[in-house]
Amino acid sequence: MSFQLDYFSLKGKNAIVTGARTGIGQAIAVGLAAVGAHVILIGHQDNMQDTQQQIEKLKGTYDTFFIDLSDVSSIRSKISPIIEKYQVDILVNNAGVIHRQPAAEHEFDQWQRVMDVNINAVFALSQLCGKSMIDNGGGKIINIASLLSFQGGINVPSYTASKHAVAGLTKALANEWASKNIQVNAIAPGYISTNNTEALRNDEQRSQSIIERIPAGRWGQGDDLVGAAVFLASKASDYVSGHTLVVDGGWMGR
Ligand code: NAP
Repeated sequence: MSFQLDYFSLKGKNAIVTGARTGIGQAIAVGLAAVGAHVILIGHQDNMQDTQQQIEKLKGTYDTFFIDLSDVSSIRSKISPIIEKYQVDILVNNAGVIHRQPAAEHEFDQWQRVMDVNINAVFALSQLCGKSMIDNGGGKIINIASLLSFQGGINVPSYTASKHAVAGLTKALANEWASKNIQVNAIAPGYISTNNTEALRNDEQRSQSIIERIPAGRWGQGDDLVGAAVFLASKASDYVSGHTLVVDGGWMGR
């Protein structure tokens, strides 16, 4: 059968998006709803109104749950009822934290928090949803990686280690689950204007040097990630597996 536009449609699909309150996760959640998915918004702070209102405007549908993903040992008990209630077709592991502190002083409890949210929770959620996707005959997992899945960064050793791990886990899960019709891929955003990069944008020198290196000549916005997310969540990407798709205005090409 030849390709059809509705391969990009997510009508009838249930999609979990973690960290859906702000930034990239919010844009992806609203974007998936715009192409028909029922979105299960996972938040941390009890305040999802903005995302909910954006989805309502599109006449999309959602449910909301609040889970602290840094408490990895409690993820199973919090996520299992969601998986029992919904057939989860799409999991977007977006929630992430950054701690900026030079390696020599980097506090170990911060290292641990970054690892818990950015990689340990990603594995726990992927394992739980992946098992159910295997039983259901397939699914899509999209991990939000980073340019620091490829580069070392400055003063963010825990973040860099966690995001390299995200790229590695993406390939490892893809190798095991491609034959089960589960496509596991990642998106590596470039420099996107969100809370995560507020400190960088407030540092005039760093901000200027970053923009000078981006061929597109601007910081990215959350919406810049939505096309890649819809593609990787949809039938259009059924033969894409274990890939980390860079969406960075050209940064990595320099
Ligand atoms: P953001 O606005 O700070 O979003 C981070 C999200 O993670 C928030 O919605 C936050 O939820 C959630 N989160 C943090 N700690 C959590 C916890 N313990 N439990 C559950 N959720 C938690 O920043 P963002 O830039 O959109 O980040 C989204 C993802 O993109 C992250 O994985 C980040 O590493 C990645 N990324 C960002 C950039 C960039 O330039 N911005 C570049 C590459 C990769 P609450 O708000 O409810 O606390």
